[in-house]
Amino acid sequence: MQASQINEKRIKPMTTTVSPKLDNNQYESFTNRYDHGRSVRKMPVFHMNSFTIENLNKSIPITTSDALLTSSSNSLSSSLMTERNYSVIKESINHVLSPSNDNNKQCDPKLNCRLPKCFCPDVKPPCKFYILCEFNELMNGICFVISVGLKRKEIPQMILLTFDDAVNDVNFPLYQEIFDRQTKRTNPNGCPIKGTFFVSHEWTDYGKVQTLYARGHEIASHSITHGYGEKFSTKQWYREIAGQREILHRFAGIPRHEIRGMRAPFLQIGGDEQFQMLMDANMTYDSSISIFDNAPPYWPYTLDFGIQHDCMITPCPTRSYPGLWEIGLIMWHDLMGGGRCTMVNSCTSPTDEKSVFDLIMTNFKRHYDTNRAPFGLFYQSNWFTTAHHKAGFLRFIDEVLKLGDVYFVTNWQLLRWIQSPINLDRIDQFEPWQCQMNIKKQSECLVPNICHVRFQKGEKIGSRFFKTCQKCPNDYPWIDNVDQLMTVS
Ligand SMILES: [Zn+2]
Repeated sequence: MQASQINEKRIKPMTTTVSPKLDNNQYESFTNRYDHGRSVRKMPVFHMNSFTIENLNKSIPITTSDALLTSSSNSLSSSLMTERNYSVIKESINHVLSPSNDNNKQCDPKLNCRLPKCFCPDVKPPCKFYILCEFNELMNGICFVISVGLKRKEIPQMILLTFDDAVNDVNFPLYQEIFDRQTKRTNPNGCPIKGTFFVSHEWTDYGKVQTLYARGHEIASHSITHGYGEKFSTKQWYREIAGQREILHRFAGIPRHEIRGMRAPFLQIGGDEQFQMLMDANMTYDSSISIFDNAPPYWPYTLDFGIQHDCMITPCPTRSYPGLWEIGLIMWHDLMGGGRCTMVNSCTSPTDEKSVFDLIMTNFKRHYDTNRAPFGLFYQSNWFTTAHHKAGFLRFIDEVLKLGDVYFVTNWQLLRWIQSPINLDRIDQFEPWQCQMNIKKQSECLVPNICHVRFQKGEKIGSRFFKTCQKCPNDYPWIDNVDQLMTVS
């Protein structure tokens, strides 16, 4: 029985006992799971949802039992245990187990919120899922969904290094110093470390943004005017965020579909108006919500079932946004000030290089030594103008890269790993983190056009210089004329 045949067959419940067939390696890997908080020494243990399939073309109720199966006999001759088979039938299963949009229901990763499209807000890392089916000659069958957690040491510790605001001559040398190939800062798979830039419009040199993109960094939207969005309508959010995506596309030469995320200026989120805009604009993620709980820290999640943690800055989204990711900003312990801080800039400023290093390393360890939730280094570049800040920060990067299981990845690379988690020992085969994935079709912008353009800001009319390797516009792009930009293809 091939998994691909499942769609074509009518499958009815069986009463036979289903038992997994495991080789020694699988047996070992099923034991002592972090995420189920259960330690098993001799018998493999699975959390399972059993379900029966009658006709996958119809939505039918699923029998869920959340049973534990502890046998290791070999009676299941036709079990489908490979990832390949799983991926083939996963689509069918998702068809039956369609996520609920009702955020009053409980999010269940085995039942109504399944990867890669849905991931519950939780401190648990993502699981690998397997479908285990048994069929008889008449193609009657019963299937089980088995979730298999990863041990802490099987999870790469991802670090998200992000920078907000304009990119220009003032901060570009810093970015070169951190990322440039000459410094040989590479992840353990040999590829250069990468970051994510949330770019706001005013004072940005789009030639330099193009170069960052060409070097494999992720570019995301941080609005046009960099205003407080607390009371923005969905339309205003759209102009600010999708409008900035259009400007980045036009003047930094980045394909629109590769600008996937946003961060709200001042981390001032805008409730349902903002999140509805992200759905309307077909964007993949937001990274603006501060999360107070940090021990253990939350993993990024989708908003199918709402945010489900304390909301630090209002207004928060209240509705369901299926498939939209939130890469939350897990708050740090502020070692000097005693409270908590989200952006590193907002922590009490450490007085010397060692204090900077200790601040970052102490907060990093809470991720690294517990559930390996991605660790955020969220910055504005002006923090680095203090010499000991930069020295302590660079020392931290170089120290953690020696650990051998720490990866500096872009937000999109992070989401790709969550969507299909892969053990550290096979991470070299993980395509989204390969070096060639960072080579973009766009070239670096070394000699930009310097456009001298008219700039109307409200009633005031002036002019601006504007750098880009793309064609100069007639007017400086701004919130008042971005609608026009977005409608002209
Ligand atoms: Zn900002």
